[in-house]
Amino acid sequence: MMGRGMSALESAGSDKYRAQGRACDIELRGELAQISAEIADPVVKLRYLRTAVEGGEAVERQVRRVPIAPLRRVLYRLRGLEALQPVAADAVSRSAISERTLVACRKARYSMAATAAVGLLLMPVLVASLAFSVEPTRQTQARVLATRPSEEKPSEEKPSEEKAVSAPGGIPDPVSTVAETLPNDALGIAPTTIWLADHGTGWELYSNGLRIETTYTVAGEPRRYRIHDRQRGLQPTVYKKPVGLLFHTSESDLWPLEADYGAQLRRSSTALLRYVQRSRAYHYLIDRFGRVYRIVDDETRASHAGHSIWARGDEVYLDLNSAFLGVSFESRWEGGQTLPITRAQLMAGRNLVNYLRQRFAIAPEMCVTHGLTSVSPKNYLIGYHRDWARGFPFAAFGLPDLYAQPPPSVALFGFSYDREFVRAVGERWPGLEVAEQALRSDAAARSVSVNVVRIERRALYNQWSKQIRDDATVAGEAPVRTAANR
Ligand SMILES: [Zn+2]
Repeated sequence: MMGRGMSALESAGSDKYRAQGRACDIELRGELAQISAEIADPVVKLRYLRTAVEGGEAVERQVRRVPIAPLRRVLYRLRGLEALQPVAADAVSRSAISERTLVACRKARYSMAATAAVGLLLMPVLVASLAFSVEPTRQTQARVLATRPSEEKPSEEKPSEEKAVSAPGGIPDPVSTVAETLPNDALGIAPTTIWLADHGTGWELYSNGLRIETTYTVAGEPRRYRIHDRQRGLQPTVYKKPVGLLFHTSESDLWPLEADYGAQLRRSSTALLRYVQRSRAYHYLIDRFGRVYRIVDDETRASHAGHSIWARGDEVYLDLNSAFLGVSFESRWEGGQTLPITRAQLMAGRNLVNYLRQRFAIAPEMCVTHGLTSVSPKNYLIGYHRDWARGFPFAAFGLPDLYAQPPPSVALFGFSYDREFVRAVGERWPGLEVAEQALRSDAAARSVSVNVVRIERRALYNQWSKQIRDDATVAGEAPVRTAANR
C-alpha cells in the first residue's frame, strides 16, 4: 500500500483502477466470492460485487451479532443471492450467471421473506431448503474482483466479541494461505556480480536476467535523511543513498491469469502504472507477468512508506520514504493474506532484489515489508498499512524471516496492537511476542508497570519523529555524505 498522502486521493475516487466502495466482513466476502465465481462475465461480476457490498451494510450489522458462524454464513449467502436479483434483471447479464445460481437466487427470495417473518430461530430449516453449493477454492478467492480490503485503515469501531482468528469452514483458512513460494536459488550458473549487460530505448538488461522497463521512469524529490542512534539520539550525518528495501502490494484489482483476460490484465496494469507514476508511489512495480518497471528513479525519494519504523542494531530509521526503496508487487492484501503473486513475479522480484542489494550494499535484515513497519502515531498502533503483514516469502528471496524478529515499533517505542489487528492478520508475529517480553522485563527490572514503560517510549518516539520532521524543513545544515557503502 502506498503512503498516507495517497489515501486521500483514493477516497476521492481519483484512481480508476481500484474498485471503490466500503469494506465488508470477511465472512460476507467469502460468500460473495463463491456466488460471484458462478458469474462468467467479469464486468457483470464486478457490478454484482459492488451492489452486494454497498447495499448490504444494514444486514451485515445485524448478522455480525449472530453468535453461530454457520448461521452467519447462511444469512450472508441469502443476502448475497438477494443482491443478485437486480443484476439478473436484464437478459444479457442473466446469461452470464450459471443456471443453478439463478435457481438459488429465486429460492433465496422466499427464504429472506421467511427469515424476516420467523426470526433467526428457524434458520436451520432454511439451510436445508437451499440447494446451492459451490466448492470454494483458492482459485475463486483470487479471482474475485472484490471491493477494497477492510484492512486499509484501522477500524474506528471496537472489536466485536468474536475471536475470529482462523476463518470459519467453507472459506480458505487465512492462516494456511500464503503467497506462492519458490525453491531456493541454487540451480544454474549465476554471475558473481550483476552488471548492466545491454540496454536500449525504454529497457535495461542485467547479467542475472533482470530486465527493467524504463519508459515510465520519473524523478522524485531529492533523497536526504538522517538516522537516530539508539543510545545517542539524532546523528549529524546526512545520507543520500538508500539503505533498505520495503516490499508492498499495489492493492489493485486482479484479473484471472488466463489468456481470455489478456486485454483486461494489460489495461489494469497500464492504469496502475500511470497512477503509481503520477503519485511517485514506488521505485519499482512488478506486474503479474513479471515485468519490472522502474517508476521513481533510485536516486530520489518515493512516497511509499507513510509513518514507518525500522531499526538495525543501534541505527533507528524513522523516514523510510527516504531511506528505503519501495518495491511493489501487483497484488492485494485481502482477508488476512496477500493474494498469491505469480511465479513470474517472484522470479523477477528475486532478480531485482539481488541487483538492488548489490548496487546499494543493502543488508539482508534491511529488506522488510510495509506491513511490518507501518504504524499509526495517532493511537500508537502497529499495522496501519498491512501489505505483506504476513506471507512474504523471505526464504525464497534468500532473506531472513523478519516476522520472527522483534519489531522496533513495539520493542523500542512501546507501540501496541488491538484485537482487530490480530483478527485481520490471522496470527501474532513470533517477533511480536519477543518484543512484548522485552517490555515486560524492562518494567519488572525497574519495578514499574508495562504501561509506564510504554508511555516513556512513546514520548521518545514523538520527540525523535519531531526531530526528523524539523530536520526535513531545514535541509542542508548538516554535512552531506553518501551512504552507499555503510
Ligand atoms: Zn505499502
